[in-house]
Amino acid sequence: MTKPVRVRFAPSPTGYPHVGNIRTALFDWLLARHAGGSFILRVEDTDVARRVEGAVEAIMDGLKWLGLDWDEGPEVGGNYGPYFQSQRLELYRDAARRLVSQGDAYYCYCSPQRLEEMRAEQVRQKQPPGYDRRCRNLTELERAQKEAEGITPVVRFKTPLEGQTRFNDLIWGEVVFEHNTIDDFVLLKSDGYPTYHLANVVDDSAMKISHVIRAEEWISSTPRHLLLYQALGFEPPQFVHHPMILGPDRSKLSKRHGAVSILEYREQGYLPETMVNFLALLGWSLDDKTEILSRKELTDNFSLERIGRTGAIFDWNKLSWMNGVYIRRLSLEDFTQRALPFLEKGLPSSVKRPLSIDYTRQIMPLIQERVRTLTEVAGLTEFFFIDGLDYDSSLLIVKKMNQESAVKALEVSKQKLVPVEAFDTGSLEAVLRPLAVELGLKAGQLFGSLRVAVTGRTVAPPLFETMSVLGKERCLERVESALGRLRSL
Ligand code: GLU
Repeated sequence: MTKPVRVRFAPSPTGYPHVGNIRTALFDWLLARHAGGSFILRVEDTDVARRVEGAVEAIMDGLKWLGLDWDEGPEVGGNYGPYFQSQRLELYRDAARRLVSQGDAYYCYCSPQRLEEMRAEQVRQKQPPGYDRRCRNLTELERAQKEAEGITPVVRFKTPLEGQTRFNDLIWGEVVFEHNTIDDFVLLKSDGYPTYHLANVVDDSAMKISHVIRAEEWISSTPRHLLLYQALGFEPPQFVHHPMILGPDRSKLSKRHGAVSILEYREQGYLPETMVNFLALLGWSLDDKTEILSRKELTDNFSLERIGRTGAIFDWNKLSWMNGVYIRRLSLEDFTQRALPFLEKGLPSSVKRPLSIDYTRQIMPLIQERVRTLTEVAGLTEFFFIDGLDYDSSLLIVKKMNQESAVKALEVSKQKLVPVEAFDTGSLEAVLRPLAVELGLKAGQLFGSLRVAVTGRTVAPPLFETMSVLGKERCLERVESALGRLRSL
């Protein structure tokens, strides 16, 4: 019988949720949902010095935003909790004590200062870094002396001096590490907290994790973990080290390439559906060509075997293209609801809040096709909301027109618009199209001038629709004010 799929996302709360880590969580979640298994969230908060206030909340916020719900972990509990490592310290201490009593680990009393000097010396001698094993073979008497001095020791693993550790990584195939490249790493620090290695192994075993999915940068930790699994008599999970996300220059994606926190993408107006699709394709693919995959298609088709070996480059152009695709797929109501908070935030403070949903709902279809991120919505629609428009008056004079013909065009337009009762697209078109001919202008000239008059810009959504949403009163007012501007040019 195959073991049930149990995967964990094990972030250290040392900062914001980096998209690289979140992509790991996504792979975990996709595998769990594909296989009908469990997705576990475990907080690896044992590095007290690097713990950042609010980081756990930010990580959970990011996961929730993307809809990556966890079956066990903070807030939801589960049979293998607690899910904060800082609440599991006794388990790690027990394991460390057991390893010492079995002879697989030992107490080390070297001071930080001595270790520092040792490291400096290794650098000078161009030797590989690592603990020189001074305390590995202390006699009982020596140990007792150190204890009497009041030194609190760390616990180190007794790495075999010879031989190799091999494992089969699902992505990399057989991986071999020589033991002589691994030092006697620390398991328990002098503050009583475990290191990543010990806590990770104890918990992956206690939580019955079937697959450890993590970034390639952790691959060199894996032989240490396997040595621990063996010494503790635990059965190791399947290891899956996926390639990293890279910036366009092929170095590890970092702040200097652009936004790296998943929450920044939310603020910048990307949809969670886009991020899930986009991040899944950073390293995984269905068939090397399909770009748009719904959450269901992803969970139906996800497989670890289709994670590639090469680093995936984060392509911002592709992300914004994809966001446009997802925005266009939203129902009008959904788009309006999602755009509203961005409008509330992005429109000038002079615009009365709360915004009218009915009015906003009329505007949204005019821009939905053109938007790539929700943050663009405020800028594109501002002229619908503000009172006075601010623009360069000379724009009212469209190519091959002059002041006089522009004044005439707007004058006559105004006269024609006054009697229009149903100010809808059809009626506006029926009035304004023949007017261009009457005035001896190209439609583009008349409409261009009117567009600037009613929107304050040369590029805006379709004119008749725009005018219809703005309404008769506002349009006439704006044409009037444009005439005033033209006359005083
Ligand atoms: N706490 C580690 C991290 O921050 C977990 C790595 C692993 O998945 O083993 O990514």
